[in-house]
Amino acid sequence: MAKIAVLGAGIAGLGVALGAARAGHDVVLIERDDTPLAVSPAEAFDWDRQGAPQVRHSHAFLARLRNLLRDRYPDVLADLYAAGATPMDFISMLPEGMDRTPLPGDEDLVAIACRRTTFEWVLRRTILNESSVKLVHGMGVTGLQTNPASDRTAVAQVTGLTLEDGTVVQADITVIAGGRRHDLPGLLSASGVAIRETIEDTGIVYYSRFFQLREGAEFPAQTGPIGGDLGYLKFGVFPGDNRTFSITLAAGVADRQLRRQLTDPDQFITIAAQIPATAAHVEVDRSQPITGVNVMAGLLNRRRGFLDESGEPVVLGLHAVGDAHTCTNPLYGRGCSLALVQAELFADSLKEHGLNHRDRAVAFEGATRKEITPWYRASVAQDRLNADSPTAANGTADAANGTADAATSTAGAREFMRDGLLPAMRTDPVVVRAFLRMFNLLEDPNSLMTNSDVVARVLTVFNDREDRPVEASMGPDRVSLLGAIS
Ligand SMILES: Cc1cc2nc3c(=O)[nH]c(=O)nc-3n(C[C@H](O)[C@H](O)[C@H](O)COP(=O)(O)OP(=O)(O)OC[C@H]3O[C@@H](n4cnc5c(N)ncnc54)[C@H](O)[C@@H]3O)c2cc1C
Repeated sequence: MAKIAVLGAGIAGLGVALGAARAGHDVVLIERDDTPLAVSPAEAFDWDRQGAPQVRHSHAFLARLRNLLRDRYPDVLADLYAAGATPMDFISMLPEGMDRTPLPGDEDLVAIACRRTTFEWVLRRTILNESSVKLVHGMGVTGLQTNPASDRTAVAQVTGLTLEDGTVVQADITVIAGGRRHDLPGLLSASGVAIRETIEDTGIVYYSRFFQLREGAEFPAQTGPIGGDLGYLKFGVFPGDNRTFSITLAAGVADRQLRRQLTDPDQFITIAAQIPATAAHVEVDRSQPITGVNVMAGLLNRRRGFLDESGEPVVLGLHAVGDAHTCTNPLYGRGCSLALVQAELFADSLKEHGLNHRDRAVAFEGATRKEITPWYRASVAQDRLNADSPTAANGTADAANGTADAATSTAGAREFMRDGLLPAMRTDPVVVRAFLRMFNLLEDPNSLMTNSDVVARVLTVFNDREDRPVEASMGPDRVSLLGAIS
């Protein structure tokens, strides 16, 4: 059995520890934030998580993640529900008038409604019950222990971690799960290891506020999508555990005027009250805020490469998992699901290759490229689609011709989505199921566009766009919204 040292007790680190411990390995988990185990979800919500500030933002836990827990860790799923999380059954939320009779495969379309702190708390409690896991919290990792490369062609091998008090943790395998802000390239470069990085800014800033339903009040009836994009502002409502929910509003980095208003707790509510999807949630008789406005900027898509051009590992004995390996725009709600999927890829490669560091690294990176990287690419592509593009004018002209070519240009693809995919999802059960399966990471990111039946159905709706009544607006335009703020 191996001894595994893990940097970071966020979602990826906890996932790695869980998989490794249940496979009989010894794990030392090092977390810099000083966060003793809370006694309840309410107390965990107050955790001082400076190392993972996104815990104060809305989190969706997609069906892929729920299914992984259902299939591999049913006790964790049961504990989440016991802690107040609830299943989000997408079929029961299909648009009004659509047949909600379950079809084969629908049993997989269930996500988890939960605050991120509650999710992490349940996972942390599970880990602490594993006798082969030791958690050190309130202690950062400052360096790597390595056997340096012995000649110019050899590769350095990591043999453990150095902590900020000088303690050395020796390990057979070291896993870096330090999240999006941890400087992994810096840590590795001190040992002479260089990794490749690809970075694309998402161009948005997140503003989130948490609320609790008042006694006797209920969530408003859901009559439309709980998230959307007004072009200048993205919005979403995220049900949480224990009668909590959060609203996230995301503005463009350059929109200083709107961003200034969003940081003000009162204006945040005024703005949410103008958007149909969020308005009923912030009615004063229905809910009360339980936090101020939390802001997070510097949101990147980023992926890192740990194999060289010939497919060989650039370092041995070390893996990166979760955001430390690949992080994507939070808007798409995939990070925690991908972190846990990748933790399982690590568990699988460990099971198959044990302490053969080279083969394990090649297998793990290969599986990552297959399962995780496509979501990085999809995130970058979607961000480009969402951004204002200088090609918009051409795209609009293409789309007006009503041809499939419309979907190939940026603006055309946006129009195809707005006038084809979105309305088709409201009326066509085949299209909405295909979308929900992709959205929940149950199918690959291109699955909609490679399914000829789905494309034909969307195209039919798209071509009918001139003959349909104008769609109800998802919210005010920017000028009206800012004008409504006193
Ligand atoms: C604003 C925002 C909203 C998001 N919304 C969603 C969502 O809706 N759904 C979703 O699935 N994902 C979402 N994500 C992404 C998700 O939060 C991350 O993908 C997920 O947390 C990744 O887990 P991780 O363990 O890799 O990193 P983290 O959870 O960030 O954990 C990293 C841990 O490493 C610790 N650490 C760092 N450096 C050191 C060190 N030197 N020594 C010891 N410990 C260290 C940190 O303290 C932290 O606890 C969101 C992200 C952001 C930024």
